[in-house]
Order: sequence, then C-alpha cells, then structure tokens
Amino acid sequence: MMAGTPLFDRITIIGAGLIGSSVARAVRRGKLAGHLALADANEEVIKEAEGLGIADSFHTSVVEAVAGSGLVILAVPVGAMASVGVAMAPGLAEGAIISDVGSVKESVFGALEPLLPAHAHLIPGHPVAGTEQSGPAAGFASLFDGRWCILTPPEGVDADALETLTAFWQGLGSTVEIMEARHHDLVLAITSHVPHLIAYNIVGTASDLEEVTRSEVIKYSAGGFRDFTRIAASDPTMWRDVFLNNKDAVLEMLGRFSEDLTALQRAIRWGDGDALFDLFTRTREIRRRIIDAGQDDAKADFGRPHED
Ligand code: NAP
Repeated sequence: MMAGTPLFDRITIIGAGLIGSSVARAVRRGKLAGHLALADANEEVIKEAEGLGIADSFHTSVVEAVAGSGLVILAVPVGAMASVGVAMAPGLAEGAIISDVGSVKESVFGALEPLLPAHAHLIPGHPVAGTEQSGPAAGFASLFDGRWCILTPPEGVDADALETLTAFWQGLGSTVEIMEARHHDLVLAITSHVPHLIAYNIVGTASDLEEVTRSEVIKYSAGGFRDFTRIAASDPTMWRDVFLNNKDAVLEMLGRFSEDLTALQRAIRWGDGDALFDLFTRTREIRRRIIDAGQDDAKADFGRPHED
C-alpha cells in the first residue's frame, strides 16, 4: 500500500450493529477505504447509523451496497449469513474479498461458500472483541485495538487476498492469527460460548428461585452474581445463533465442564478443602496471566469506582 492510499477503493459492511458499526468507525479512523458503504436490513438501524455519520453511504439493499466493493464484511448474526449471501451474490465485484465477524467459523463457511461466485475470495474471520451491548450507538473505533482477530482461510486460499485481509485487520488495530475453522470453534467454545451459557444459566436459575426472592437476588448481587449478569445481558439473537451453529464443540466442552463440576460437588460434600484450595489457586493464576497478556485491566472489581 502506498502511503496515503487507502487499502480499498470501496469497502462494504453489512450489519450496522455493535461490531459492524465499530468496524466502520475503525475503517474511518485508519483511512482504509476510499468509500465506505454500510448496509442493514433494519431501516431504523440504518437511519440511526446515518445519524451517527459513521460511513459514506447507507443502504437497506445489500446488492446495491456491495456493488464495486473490493472487500465485503458481514457483521450480522451467524444465522443470517446465508440469507445475506443469497442477496449479495449477484452484485459482487470481480475478485472481491468476502469476510465476516461471526463468532462461529465452520458453519459460516459452509453457509456462504456454495452461494458465492467462483471469482470471489471467501475468508471468514472473527475479531475476539466485543461488549454485551447491541446496535450502532454501542460501537466504538478502538474496540479492536490490541485484540486478536482470527482468520480461518480455506485450503488453497488466494495468498494476496489473505495478505490484504490481514493488513485490513492490522489497520483496525488487531493482531491477526490464522487458524483452522474447526479448531477456532473448539477454542471459542471454551473461552466464550460455554462461559456465556453458564452466565445465562446462573442468571436464569436465580430468577426462578422461590425461596430466595427476586428482589433479594438484585439487592445482594454485588456478592458475585452481577458480574455474570453483564455476560447474560448479551444479544439473544446473536447467542441463540452461536449455540445452534457450534453445537458439537459446545456439547463437547460442556461434557468436560459437567465432569469437573461433579468433582467440585464431591469435594464440597466430602469436605475436601485441599481440592478446592488447589483449584482456586490455579484459577487465580489464570486471571493474572490474562492481565499480563494485556487482555484485561488489573484494576480491582473491574475498575468500578470505590471510595477510599
Ligand atoms: P447486533 O448489534 O445485533 O447487530 C447485528 C445487525 O445485523 C442488526 O442491526 C441486525 O438487524 C442486522 N441484521 C440481521 N439480519 C440481517 C440481514 N439479513 N441483512 C442485513 N442486516 C441484518 O450484533 P453484533 O453484536 O454486532 O453481532 C454481529 C456479529 O458479530 C455476529 O455474527 C456475532 O456473532 C459477531 N460478534 C459479536 C461480538 C459481540 O461481542 N457482540 C463479538 C465478536 C463477534 P436487526 O436489528 O433487525 O436484528
């Protein structure tokens, strides 16, 4: 790329929610596109994005939005990828790179690959960054700074297309890792999908309790519960689609999780304090390593303000 020349003449982002609008803002910040087109099926969402001024053109028609774009990024729920693929395929420019930000990779490739013209380069991706919020107003340009973006190119991928997409994510502030799609889905099952399921489950269990009232659950939530509620507030459509599309890996990891939970249950029942203490010591070390790796802040209580 020549200094001052954008990476692409035109980029299209489909889906103007948290992730799509953050990519749009970061594309602008990095001056990566001559023209940035943003599309969303939801008229209210695209109007809101237009009001925020985060792209150069705004569309509800994806086929119109992708015309002439060298890069198209799909930022819609995993279950909506195929319908976007069908709609955009006839409008794709010769040799366009098609990528996405979906949280599951094998099923996204399987859904899109048969729908795209042979001249298009499909390279799925997943920025490992996000929040529990949704919609265009929730996005921000620095979301991907210092975070990993995992690309899962198929065998025989066009090397230039992969290099350009890598440069794109680096331009958004991320470090790029290349991984096989199936392995990505297994890794993310334990680092993201199962933790979300546990949070959804514990918040659901607490809200169903009869002997402890719901108002007590809210009142005493600072005991730990409220940190689960942040994750359990994540977008229902997105997460429904993640579990429907990463079934095998999630079930495999849940099997391991249940075994370990049963072992903890036994340790509590039999008063095995050493087993509990050893586990809690190991888990504290994991937290320290996440902070050392720059993947979270060391501030106590997630940096919530406390009086001295
Ligand atoms: P979001 O804020 O809900 O945004 C998704 C947007 O896509 C919504 O505006 C939605 O419209 C729109 N949409 C749905 N179907 C569409 C279609 N067929 N054509 C065009 N637009 C459509 O969700 P998000 O958090 O940005 O998630 C987007 C993707 O990023 C998902 O695949 C998710 O797995 C992935 N991801 C999320 C995170 C995270 O932390 N949130 C992190 C990494 C990756 P409606 O409002 O009408 O539904």
